[in-house]
Amino acid sequence: MVLTEELLINGDRTPAQSGEFTSLIDPATGEGWAKIAAGDAVDIDRAVQAADRIRQPWRQVNSRDRTRMLYRLAELIREHLESLAELESRNVGKPIRDARDEVNLAADCFEYYAGAINKVGGQTIPVAAAGTSLTFREPIGVCGLIAPWNFPIAITAWKLAPALAMGNTIVLKPASQTPLTALKLGELALAAGIPPGVLNIVTGSGSRAGEALVRHPLVRKISFTGSTEIGSHVMKLAADDIKRVTLELGGKSANLIFADADLEKAVPKAMWSVLGNAGQDCCARSRLLIERSIYDAFLEQLTQQFQTLKLGHPLDESTEIGSLISQNHRDRVAEYIQIGQVEGAKLLCGGYIPEGEHLRSGAYLQPAIFADVTPTMRIAQEEIFGPVVCAIPFDTEAEAIAIANQSFYGLSGSIWTRDISRALRVAKAIETGVLSINTGHSVHLEAPFGGVKRSGLGRELGLNVLDHYSEIKSVFIAE
Ligand code: NAD
Ligand code: MN
Repeated sequence: MVLTEELLINGDRTPAQSGEFTSLIDPATGEGWAKIAAGDAVDIDRAVQAADRIRQPWRQVNSRDRTRMLYRLAELIREHLESLAELESRNVGKPIRDARDEVNLAADCFEYYAGAINKVGGQTIPVAAAGTSLTFREPIGVCGLIAPWNFPIAITAWKLAPALAMGNTIVLKPASQTPLTALKLGELALAAGIPPGVLNIVTGSGSRAGEALVRHPLVRKISFTGSTEIGSHVMKLAADDIKRVTLELGGKSANLIFADADLEKAVPKAMWSVLGNAGQDCCARSRLLIERSIYDAFLEQLTQQFQTLKLGHPLDESTEIGSLISQNHRDRVAEYIQIGQVEGAKLLCGGYIPEGEHLRSGAYLQPAIFADVTPTMRIAQEEIFGPVVCAIPFDTEAEAIAIANQSFYGLSGSIWTRDISRALRVAKAIETGVLSINTGHSVHLEAPFGGVKRSGLGRELGLNVLDHYSEIKSVFIAE
C-alpha cells in the first residue's frame, strides 16, 4: 500500500506549493509506505491566513453548537476506532492494543472539553469602586500546535480539544514522521461540522514548516510538545512578538522503590512504566531507585520478567513491545547501551537487536536493564527515549530524594511504599510536575499534566489548560 497525503488548508486537501513530497518508512518493516506533502513557509502562511479569516465567525458560534461539534467529533473518532488505531500502529510501530487505547483517549478528550465549553466563563469581582467589575474569557486567536511522534493522536487531541473549546482557530504541524492520524482527524472535524479553516494541517519538517509556524506574526500562541532542545529554540523565537507558549518537553523521571513496597505490584509496574511505547515516553520512569536491602532481589525479579516480553509486529494482537520509531532512533538508543557499559554500569539483559527475520528488518531493540548506575552517569542524566532501565541503589529516604532531584528534568515519577506518611513527605520533596504513588501511571485527562525545570512550561489537560487557550479581559462598569 502506498498512501499519498496532502495538506489540509481551509477545508481542502491541497499539495504543498513546492509540489514536494517526502516518504514515510514503516518502522516495523523498513519499507516505504506513504508519501506526505512537504509543507514549508508558503504553505504555513496559506494555512495561517485561512485560520485568521475564520477567527471572528468561529468565535461567534454559540457555546451549545460548539459543544455539539466536539461531541460529534468524539463520536466519529470512536466510529473510526479500528482504522485510526491501525494507521497509528503502523505509523509509529506501536502495538495495536496500545494504539486503540490512545484513539479512545483522544475521543475521551474531545468529550471532556465539549462538556467544559458552557461551564467555564468569567467572574464578577467585588472591587472597591462604585460599579461592577467583570471578566470575559476570550479566545487567543490563531494557535499553532506542534506535536511529537510518540503519541501522535493522543497528544494532538490534548491540544486541539481545549484550543477549539475556547474558540481559537488552529494550524497544526504534526511530527514529520507521524502525520497520518492527524490528517484523518482533520477530515473527521470537517465531517463533525467544524467549519473549514478552523483546523488547518500542514505536514512537513520541523525546521521548515514548524519554524515558519512559530515565526508567523498572525499566530498568537504556540503549544509545543517535543524535545527540550527544540522547545528552548521555540521559546526564543516566540519571544520576538510575545507569543504565548506552552511547552511539554523531555523527562528522566525517577521511580522510588522503598523496601516496604508491595513488590508483587511494583516489579511489573516498574517494567511497564519504562517499556510502554517501547520506552519512547516522556513520562518513562527510566531511573529506577531501589532501597539497598531489596536491590538485588528486585532486579532479579525484574530481569526475569524482561525475559517474558513479547516483541513483534505492531499489528499482531499479542505484541507487547513494537518497533521503535525509526532505525536511526534505534541506533541512537543502542549507542547509550555502549555508553553505559563504558561508564561502568552493569548490563543485566537486553540492549541488542533481536534475532528473527521479521524483527531484523524493523527498528526493534531488546529491552535492557542497567544495574549499578550512579546518578551522574550520562545514562542517568540524559533522556534515552528507548527501552532502557537504569537502576540506582539508595540507603536512606533523604538520599533517594536527593538522587531523584539530581536532574535538569522534572516531568513525572513514582513512589512505592506502604507508609503513607513517607509517601506524602517524599511526594512533597520531589521536584516534578506529575507523580504517582503505588502505581506507574499518572496521566488522567481530567487532571493537570506538565513539567517543572527543563521539562516544560504550563500545564495541559484538566480544566487548568483552558487558561492557556484563553485571554482574560477585565471590564469595569461604573454605576
Ligand atoms: P522534537 O523536538 O524532535 O520534535 C517535536 C516537534 O517539533 C515535531 O513536530 C518537529 O517536527 C517539530 N520541530 C522540530 N524542529 C523545529 C523547529 N526548529 N521549529 C519548530 N518546530 C520544530 O521531538 P520528537 O523527537 O518528536 O519527540 C520526542 C521528544 O518529545 C522527547 O524529548 C519527549 O520527552 C518529548 N515529549 C514530551 C511530552 C510531554 O508531554 N512533556 C510528550 C511527548 C514527547
Ligand atoms: Mn526528534
